[in-house]
Amino acid sequence: MSCVSEAGLTAPKMKSPPGAKMASPYGGGFLPERENVVAAPPFPRLKLTAPLSSFPSIGPRRHARLARRGLSTVLDLLYCFPFRYEDRRIRLLISDLVEGAEQGFVATVRSIRKKVVPKLRAPIIEATIFDRSGEISVVWFGQEYLLKHLPEGSQAFFFGKVEYSSYSRSLVLRSPVVEVVDPEQGLRRSYHIGRIVPIYREEEGLTSGVFRRIVGDVLRALWGESFDPLPESVRREANLMGWFSSIVEMHFPRETERPMEELLLSGYPPRDRIIFEEFFFLEYLMMLRRQGVQHSGRMWSPAETAESAITAFERRLPFPLTGAQRRACLEISQDFARPHPMNRFLLGDVGSGKTFVAAFAMCQALRGGCQTAFLAPTEILAQQHSRTLAGLMKEDPPVLLSHSVKGGERRRLLAGIADGSHRVVVGTHAILEEGVIFSNLGLVVVDEQHKFGVAQRKALWSKGPNPDILVMTATPIPRSLALSYYGDLEISLLDELPPGRQPVTTRVVAKADESFWHKKVAPVLARSEQVFVVLPLIEESEKVDAKNAMDVHAFLSDLFSGVRVGLLTGRMGGEEKEAVMEGFRSGEIAILVSTTVIEVGVDIPRASVMVVENAERFGLAQLHQLRGRIGRGGLPGTFYLIPGQGIGEEGRARLKILEEYADGFHVAEEDLRLRGPGEFLGVKQSGLPMFVVADLVRDVEVLTRSRRLALGYVEESEGRMESAWEQAGLEEFLRLRYREVEVWLSIR
Ligand code: ADP
Ligand code: MG
Repeated sequence: MSCVSEAGLTAPKMKSPPGAKMASPYGGGFLPERENVVAAPPFPRLKLTAPLSSFPSIGPRRHARLARRGLSTVLDLLYCFPFRYEDRRIRLLISDLVEGAEQGFVATVRSIRKKVVPKLRAPIIEATIFDRSGEISVVWFGQEYLLKHLPEGSQAFFFGKVEYSSYSRSLVLRSPVVEVVDPEQGLRRSYHIGRIVPIYREEEGLTSGVFRRIVGDVLRALWGESFDPLPESVRREANLMGWFSSIVEMHFPRETERPMEELLLSGYPPRDRIIFEEFFFLEYLMMLRRQGVQHSGRMWSPAETAESAITAFERRLPFPLTGAQRRACLEISQDFARPHPMNRFLLGDVGSGKTFVAAFAMCQALRGGCQTAFLAPTEILAQQHSRTLAGLMKEDPPVLLSHSVKGGERRRLLAGIADGSHRVVVGTHAILEEGVIFSNLGLVVVDEQHKFGVAQRKALWSKGPNPDILVMTATPIPRSLALSYYGDLEISLLDELPPGRQPVTTRVVAKADESFWHKKVAPVLARSEQVFVVLPLIEESEKVDAKNAMDVHAFLSDLFSGVRVGLLTGRMGGEEKEAVMEGFRSGEIAILVSTTVIEVGVDIPRASVMVVENAERFGLAQLHQLRGRIGRGGLPGTFYLIPGQGIGEEGRARLKILEEYADGFHVAEEDLRLRGPGEFLGVKQSGLPMFVVADLVRDVEVLTRSRRLALGYVEESEGRMESAWEQAGLEEFLRLRYREVEVWLSIR
């Protein structure tokens, strides 16, 4: 591990002086031993923190392009890995070439000419090239510059696909990549030929070739770098490759007989090292964050035993708690008995009864004399929660704060919250505003936490002196994701649904035409059960080809003239929405046509059918949540998914997952696999470092191992001087690597 200088990370000791021929400890991948011409760094030695602009081969234009790709330091560039590789080793002669494969070889140009074909827009460039084994024709479309670039007699490396041309009855090389051999250098390998070469994404006008050259030059300037951000003990225990050699080989792999695709999977040592590293960094950060948590602002601890508190709470309920709810309540009571703030994540499938666990926590906090706040993502949900809580906390009826509360009413509400007379506040984003001041906020509950960004959550818990926090989600989270992103939260799992819950059958139906409504929906209405119809759009759109709520509402009102069809969209005002919801809740409205405003939490016991149009436009987790709206009141439910016209194979496969699996955790894993963690949890807005190489689904074993080692490392190094240095270096590295780390660390 290197020391840390003021200027950042440096390589403290070079194993050998610059320019010396290096028997590379990193193997022969990037630099063959015989070529000390390349190994001798012609560049000034670079620091990892150096801005890319300080590098000679990066002028202002390239620098601007790199910056637009989010790359500003040497370290940024090193972690911008290729997305595939090409085998451009020189191992074949023309006579070895076979039809159909991508192959590379060196040949000399015998002739090259331009041919204009009237029908084609661009001219064809035709060449004949030869080596000692024979010759072959080459064809390019356009690319006139080749006439100059590749004159007769020049030697080049050609890489491309060989095809049989029935016209000339011979093999032809089509549009190959060309790398002209510098006559001075001869056939020595370069960044671009004679090796396995990296292929980078071409963005912001930087071609793969240019990018490759920049990376190659930077690696050469760092050659011999012995820095490693991972603590040595960890590296040894996990049996990992060194940092620099891994980076080098991620870009320029060592020669291998493995298929190129394997270099992109775990099992390739440099990649394994980077995967481990990514998980380790995250776990380490999580531990730092945990250490930073202060004392709770709570001035009380529960006066009674947890058991008796739960029993007392249960008496307020119309039903006994499920085993899982009881366990979660117990865990919360234990948190309250500790001096530091509770930081608990309540994870449970839709309908598992999270609200009641939250209510228990709130009752406890109230008995301790604190105020509590309950944050919900939508107004409808806030209203529903406030109704539920009003039934459970008769002594402290909740007040509801949303954007539709205005004027004098709002002023009175805020005054009551500020002086502590309102003790339970349920609300939407409106609670987060600056003007909302609590007198002693002791507990914050966040429902459907993935609907809120980290900054919003932070705004809420900065309203009290280190309040206890309970975040809940009905989006089941795969174990790997929960571990990695919520590793510093305690987790309570509601893995049991209340009794009497009826199964919901999911069906993908080709289209919702009149006969569908008559056959599938009319009988449901006849049993005076209720139906949700969900659409992706409010009204007709020119840009999006999908069904919309207004049209479907008109269509169904017409079709089912005997019942009331309601319409609910995000564009309606609070009161209007509430009136529609009330109509549906009371059963007066039989069919509710809506956009996803009803997505979370809404509880309508007699709703047994839901029809989702253009189902391909919704995420799996979102559909699963929608599905949770039905089958809640002892009636078996049916969930109809109607795909739109444009749905592809993949879209169908996704809907099938829902047909097959009722369990949210399984759906979640599949969703994670399909969409990645960013989409899934909204972690993009969280400031958390994302993974470049690691994959939460595929690499879950590595995650578990890195977590164990990170824990062990932190415990072991407590009070050890060398470790303090090591950790300072690691933390500095993390700040450079992930710029948002500071923000993230400051939030719990
Ligand atoms: P979640 O928020 O986890 O999706 P809710 O808290 O909204 O679930 O509860 C879903 C439904 O289950 C509600 O109708 C609620 O009354 C009911 N419920 C919750 N807990 C129980 C229980 N222990 N026994 C019976 N019904 C319950
Ligand atoms: Mg809920």
